[in-house]
Amino acid sequence: MKIVLASNNRGKLAELQAMLAPLGVELVRQADLGVGEAEEPFHTFVENALAKARFASAHTGLPALADDAGLCVDAFGGLPGVQTAYYATQFGYEKSDANNVRALLEQMQGQGNRRAAMVSTLVAVRSPEDPEPLIAVGRVAGEIAPEPRGMGGFGFDPVMFIPEFGKTFAELPVEVKNAHSHRGRASQRMLELMRAHWL
Ligand code: IMP
Repeated sequence: MKIVLASNNRGKLAELQAMLAPLGVELVRQADLGVGEAEEPFHTFVENALAKARFASAHTGLPALADDAGLCVDAFGGLPGVQTAYYATQFGYEKSDANNVRALLEQMQGQGNRRAAMVSTLVAVRSPEDPEPLIAVGRVAGEIAPEPRGMGGFGFDPVMFIPEFGKTFAELPVEVKNAHSHRGRASQRMLELMRAHWL
């Protein structure tokens, strides 16, 4: 089965392709089929991922898979959530991973509750009208470290401290991070859902 991936990120394509390989699914990036980016106007991961999957399916006639992910900080009522990638820009910094980390540490100063989760939501539709989208959520809970530690990963990994390992994601070997990451968990769950409902 061919499925269009509603993302142009090559890293995600490779990761998801590897996860779905046991199903004999071929993932194709939407850009490679001439599809542009969908709007992401909603407040929740699931709504944005659904909008992206529908858009990709409508423009290709293929089943589609989309993801939306971000950081949910307890003390901020779950924000920045869907705005995670642009977090630093709320405080006048340019958009970058390093500025996101810097802005987050500034906003967390003096904060007693440092609990936070990385969340990944995958949504798959067979068509734009599919009344029963497959929805897989992966979540990894941790604490925002007081300062960055480790050289691996990307994004918030240097401050995402995982108590069960006693390390930040950036300090863990990539295979360990991937096996325990929000994205790894969501894709594992999506694999089960596709196997049960689509194949
Ligand atoms: P995306 O939509 O998955 O590309 O990510 C949204 C935001 O979350 C971006 O700011 C990423 O840097 C951040 N992010 C996504 N996945 C991870 C991760 O595994 N570790 C740390 N940050 C992440």
